[in-house]
Amino acid sequence: MPRGTHPKKEVRDAVEYAKEHGWRVAEAGGGHVFCTLLCPLKSREGHRFFVHSTPQNPGNHAKRLKDLVDKCEHNDNQNQQGEEEP
Ligand SMILES: [Zn+2]
Repeated sequence: MPRGTHPKKEVRDAVEYAKEHGWRVAEAGGGHVFCTLLCPLKSREGHRFFVHSTPQNPGNHAKRLKDLVDKCEHNDNQNQQGEEEP
């Protein structure tokens, strides 16, 4: 099992979702931070999200991450590949 596997399924799914959108996992953790997710923009202006090891509400925590991924406008590698069209 790779490192960076979160114990809560909701959070794990959200992390996978972020990765599919080109986000990177930084392992810098400590305290309650499980890992840090960095948006595709490799600069200070990029978004980031601290994944908590033990969020009080995993579902809500996961949703906040997904919302941030959706909100991030720096995700351009999806567009280059072309969406799968029906
Ligand atoms: Zn971003």
